[in-house]
Amino acid sequence: MKRLALALAAFAVAGSALAEYPEKPVTIVVPFAAGGPTDKVARDLAEALRKPLGGTIVIENVGGAGGTLGATKVAKAAPDGYTLLLHHIGMATSPALYRTLQYKTLDDFEYLGLINEVPMTLIGKTALTANSYADLTKWLEANRGKINLANAGLGSASHLCGLLFQQSVKIDMTTVPYKGTAPAMTDLLGGQVDLMCDQTTNTTSQIESGKVKAFAVTTSKRLTTPALAKLPTLDESGLKGFNVSIWHGLYAPKGTPKAVLDKVNAALKTALKDAEFDKREQALGAVIVTDGRVNPAEHKKFVEAEINKWGPVIKAAGQYAD
Ligand code: ASP
Repeated sequence: MKRLALALAAFAVAGSALAEYPEKPVTIVVPFAAGGPTDKVARDLAEALRKPLGGTIVIENVGGAGGTLGATKVAKAAPDGYTLLLHHIGMATSPALYRTLQYKTLDDFEYLGLINEVPMTLIGKTALTANSYADLTKWLEANRGKINLANAGLGSASHLCGLLFQQSVKIDMTTVPYKGTAPAMTDLLGGQVDLMCDQTTNTTSQIESGKVKAFAVTTSKRLTTPALAKLPTLDESGLKGFNVSIWHGLYAPKGTPKAVLDKVNAALKTALKDAEFDKREQALGAVIVTDGRVNPAEHKKFVEAEINKWGPVIKAAGQYAD
């Protein structure tokens, strides 16, 4: 029944407003809180998309449940091109984490292209006595059972990174979930939580201004962004093979007319070449995708590979939510 309704809605759109699309504001749903890393990417991308797409773009933050609430909203939205989703690696981690996900990641969305890849950093509140990763390992040992680790909920990038970190150092920590890492950062700055693993798009300026302590980057290679270049990798710090880099992609509800999808994909490709967008991304340690994954089919293939990559890791950790 739902499929029939979707097909009819798509048909109605294809027959009418297609030539003028977009003739009203396009909403990009960000499945995390405003001011956080996913939100920042979406707002910068919206700026770069405005001209090639030709119209107003509105960002709507639908945070909660590790990004699955926002993704559900878009999966169930009218497939008319006016509701899009900008999501990260959570698209690939949530199928293994949630027993009752309200959507099928590979079936309920149209894939529009990958946007960027973003490294993560392990950061802590300034009150921590540790000043280096070596100090931190001692502090972790001495504080077993008392350590708080903030994240953006099960399925978020910060959750995945924190999960791998706890497994690697073999120390369980109390995870504190937020609707996004913007509110988590506020609590880290206020000293209410001890540690967080988060995208450089959220942590770079706080590291630069000394408002948080930075211990390491999560990628296998050191970063070149000036504020982050001196940070060691977790791999070189003893956690061999630790390598987490997250990505963002753009999606539409399944059944969105092909002509609309083609227009958004073409606008996305132009936006990804926007010099101002590139400059902003680079300054925050993010790298814009320029390979074939900016195409829908390869984007989808990549997400499928990521589901297959992270699923077993998450299942091995015994993490589930309903
Ligand atoms: N950085 C968050 C995460 O851990 C999401 C966000 O707030 O953008 O997934």
